Amino acid sequence: MRLVLLGPPGAGKGTQAERICASHELVHLSTGDLLRAAVAAGSELGLRAKAAMDAGDLVSDEIVLALVRERLEQPDAAKGFLLDGFPRNTAQAEALDADLGDRGVQRVISMRLDDEEIMRRLLARGRKDDQEIVIRNRLEVYREETAPLIAYYEGKDLLSSIDALGTMDEVFERIQSVLADESAGAGA
Ligand code: ADP
Repeated sequence: MRLVLLGPPGAGKGTQAERICASHELVHLSTGDLLRAAVAAGSELGLRAKAAMDAGDLVSDEIVLALVRERLEQPDAAKGFLLDGFPRNTAQAEALDADLGDRGVQRVISMRLDDEEIMRRLLARGRKDDQEIVIRNRLEVYREETAPLIAYYEGKDLLSSIDALGTMDEVFERIQSVLADESAGAGA
């Protein structure tokens, strides 16, 4: 399966992504994780990405696409993958579609969560970019740049939306039932 996990910061994408990938033997590609690794490694790409990440802005499409392409070219990704935190704007989604060609995205799972709960979760998490002012900016960027992807994928008939409120197990069950339908529908 070739999947995209979409949702606001704090929706629990990373946690659910790991469980989905373990259960369905997919490569987990998190652009946030790849970018944090590049920053930690002190690579030139990491240095270029750092300021945007610290401010809660999007890193340039050029940098993100280079990381994604490098990972998707690895042989293991041919068996299936889950994209987590990517695409994050329409330009990235269009570049992904062009790259994948006729082996395109098969299902997009959109995790819904209201702003109050997002703020509560991120403040509790306390990552470096989880200060209130940075969180507010990430939410704004999400609304302006990333939320339009919901309509983008709906238009391609690929979107399944789930409620991200509840325990990790409850949310995972909702995702698993979407994926069970997907496997049945694909006849594979
Ligand atoms: P969250 O979903 O909690 O905001 P991520 O780990 O997905 O966290 O991303 C952290 C930061 O990394 C983002 O705020 C952004 O600066 C950068 N980033 C991650 N993925 C992308 C992407 N696809 N395009 C641009 N920037 C990205």
